[in-house]
Amino acid sequence: MKQSIELNIAKVQQRIRDAEKKFDRLPKSVTLIAASKTQPASAIRTAAAVGLKHFGENYVQEALDKQQELSDLDLHWHFIGPIQSNKTRLIAEHFDWVHSVDRLKIAQRLNEQRPDSLAPLNICLQLNISQESSKSGISTAELANLATAIEKMKRVRVRGVMAIPKASDNAVEQREAFAAVYQAAIHLQQFSDNIDTVSMGMSGDMEAAIAEGATFVRVGTDIFGPR
Ligand SMILES: *Cc1c(COP(=O)(O)O)cnc(C)c1O
Repeated sequence: MKQSIELNIAKVQQRIRDAEKKFDRLPKSVTLIAASKTQPASAIRTAAAVGLKHFGENYVQEALDKQQELSDLDLHWHFIGPIQSNKTRLIAEHFDWVHSVDRLKIAQRLNEQRPDSLAPLNICLQLNISQESSKSGISTAELANLATAIEKMKRVRVRGVMAIPKASDNAVEQREAFAAVYQAAIHLQQFSDNIDTVSMGMSGDMEAAIAEGATFVRVGTDIFGPR
């Protein structure tokens, strides 16, 4: 299993570098986040040993347990799952990034609870780009209001947008959705001073996301195997 994680990471990194070339993106402009939910700390340690630095987690307590076990490593932790308001304090204290902010109340709590000893918390606003009623995220129409309100906060910093478009195996459809996310990030620049991040693309659609401007891709299955 260990061997395959290492091999899988090499393959995913190669896909990223190939897509950067193919779609005229700058070399290394796309950063891989390993989506490590449900994976044991040992799998993260294996991934870190071959150079991965960014890990995305969806469940707070599970993430904290793994962070403690891996505290000897210098890793960047991204919270990428839905946020319950009673979990914001632990998220504010233990993560570097939060990709899934889609309510003012959550941003306010993260801002109040981010310890002064840490750098401001980097956040992405999650978009429900395919307008699926079952999914979290705001519409592009709501982006300006939310961003304007959060921009006044000192302890959180809006860096961009995150989206999980409707799964599709059609590359044209995939790219249309990702292009809309990228346009939303451009729009966000009017309301926010630190926009440099577009978090989009997973195992099945990362090439399309890179073609349309992703700066972070979040990959789980193609690194760790099926959950
Ligand atoms: C699990 C997860 C991923 C990774 O998905 P894969 O299809 O396993 O690559 C990406 N983003 C989020 C928000 C996730 O929860």
